[in-house]
Formats: sequence, structure tokens, C-alpha cells
Amino acid sequence: MLKLKTTCLALAFAGVAAVATSGAVLAQSKGTVGIAMPTKSSARWIDDGNNMVKALKEHGYSADLQYAEDDIPNQLSQVENMVAKGEKALVIAAIDGTTLSDVLKQAKAAGITVIAYDRLIRDTPNVDYYATFDNFQVGVLQAQSIEQKLGLKEGKGPFNIELFGGSPDDNNAYFFYNGSMSVLKPYIDSGKLIVASGQMGMDKVATLRWDGATAQARMDNLLSAYYGNKHVDAVLSPYDGLSIGIISSLKGVGYGSADQPMPVISGQDAEVPSIKAILRGDQYSTIFKDTRDLAKVAADMVDAALGGKQVTVNDTKTYNNGVKVVPSYLLKPVVVDKGNWEKVLVDSGYYKRSQFE
Ligand code: BGC
Repeated sequence: MLKLKTTCLALAFAGVAAVATSGAVLAQSKGTVGIAMPTKSSARWIDDGNNMVKALKEHGYSADLQYAEDDIPNQLSQVENMVAKGEKALVIAAIDGTTLSDVLKQAKAAGITVIAYDRLIRDTPNVDYYATFDNFQVGVLQAQSIEQKLGLKEGKGPFNIELFGGSPDDNNAYFFYNGSMSVLKPYIDSGKLIVASGQMGMDKVATLRWDGATAQARMDNLLSAYYGNKHVDAVLSPYDGLSIGIISSLKGVGYGSADQPMPVISGQDAEVPSIKAILRGDQYSTIFKDTRDLAKVAADMVDAALGGKQVTVNDTKTYNNGVKVVPSYLLKPVVVDKGNWEKVLVDSGYYKRSQFE
């Protein structure tokens, strides 16, 4: 494990001076940290926000938690306000990772520590650390679950597959897609997987703003244009919210019956409705990313950076944001299906069993 020394020496000195004069006050609150989350429309980000507030509190900070409902100008003005209020650090899960350069310049000038949360903030030198999961591995796991269920390793096929990508303004979407293609491409090249639409590459398969309705509309088009007399056997979906749209589209044309079984569909975030879809057999798998662990990593980063201590990272190569490689901590994603959902999600205390009854 690598340790990096924080660059925020100025803040550290300020902190030491303040402790010397008013230690009692600081023991209660070490200041406020701004948390900018993208949207409440997906449960994972609500969990992320709540877990961040909790993890920061455990370190003695107050939190200013804001959601921007996937609206870029809204998130920008929330972050501008956090800078104006003089918050000590910003933890940002960007809607569009390329739109924050100006405000982060101001943040830097004010000595504010900036952590990119789950999604890389691009095109700026003014992001200090990145807390996330191994995003390439997410894509690998999604594709491997399709590979395993179809029996591709055992030589079965050919099968028809369609591919969906995430939002083109989210750096993660490319990592997910590339990770998945590292598994699927050899089967496509050998003819064991057939993309009947021919639509491959993020320029063709991306889904702006991770929107389920957009995925549903694209699936409708794919089914009517390419699957009149064919069965789609698998759909690579990078996110549970897209899988929900894809499943509705498939059901709309009669999938989910004995003679027209559902394709093998992947997902991500292990959201409750999608676990239920897995239990019903509509979706095959999802990826669990424990937001309790991510929040803890990000809060530890904040506290170490503000305290002038070494910030723990475990990757200093992968995440080039266009200006610099951002020192990162990558957590491990876990694939979930009917076979292990209880062990991974309920036994770990992430969900209650009653949520699935
Ligand atoms: C996150 C995923 C999530 C997606 C849509 C990505 O940046 O890493 O976990 O499914 O955004 O919210």
C-alpha cells in the first residue's frame, strides 16, 4: 500500500494553530465538509450521502450534503456555494466529470481539499484524491457473469447479445465498457457472440445521464429493427437503472415466457428493485459496491489531508484525468446473483431481509 503525503500543508498548520488555541471547540467539530452527490433518483447515491455524513461525523466533521438531481448547472452552483462558505474539503460525485474546472480553481486558491468520489473529476489539476471501486473490474465481472451463464467457456453458442454503455460524460462508463469488452470481444471475434445490431463502441452504445427511459427506448428500437425473427440471448447492461428499462422493453414484446425466455442481463449497484428482479428471474446479476466502505475511504482521505497526515491510496497509475494521474484508492466490487445475494447483501448488514419479502 502506497502512502502519499498531503499537499495541504497550509491547512495543516492552520489546524495546529487552532488546536493550540481552542482545542475544546475543535474536539466537537473539526469544520464542515461539502458533499456533492449527483441524484436521489438512484438509491445508491442516497446511501453514499448518508454513509458519508456518518463517516465524517465519526471523524468529528459536520457535513453539508447536497443532491443536484442530475442537473449540471445545479451541481455547479452547489459546489460554488460550498467554496463561498469556506468549507474545509469537498467530496464530489460529479454529474459531468468535465464541468468543474473553474470552481475547483477557486477551491484550490482557498486551500480547500478536493476528493473525487466514485467518479473521476476530469480536466483539472485541482483534484487531490480519488476514492472509488476498481471500475475496470466492474465491467469484467458483469461480462464474466454473462459468459458463465451462457456457457461460453464451455464452447456453447452462438448467442445474440446487445451492448449498453453508461453516460458518456462519466469517466467510469468507459472503464465499465472496456472491462466488459476485455471478456466479450474474443467471443464476438470468434462468432460465438453476435451483436445483431452491429452497435459496438461507446460512441454507439452510451446512455446519456444513465437514464433508464433512454435505455428502454433504445432497446425497443433494437428489438423492432433486428430481432423480428431472432431471440436476444444476453444484454450487457452497466447499471441496474438501465436494466429496469431494458427489462420493460423486453416484456413489452413478450419476453419472460417459456418459449421466449428473458436474456441474461447484467447490472450494477445491487439496488433493492433489481435484487427483486434477480429473484424473479428477470435480471441475472448485478454488482455490489459497498458504499459504507467507499464513504469510509473518502472520509479517511479528508481527515488525513486536513490533518496534514499521509493519505492512504493503493493506485497511482490508472486514473489520468487529462491533466494528471489522480492518486486513488480502489475498492473491490462483488458480483451478486441468485446464488449469493443473501450472503453478500443481508449477512453483511447492508440490507434487511424484510426488504425482500
Ligand atoms: C457509478 C455506478 C452507477 C452509475 C449510475 C457510476 O458512476 O460508478 O455505480 O451505477 O454511476 O449512477
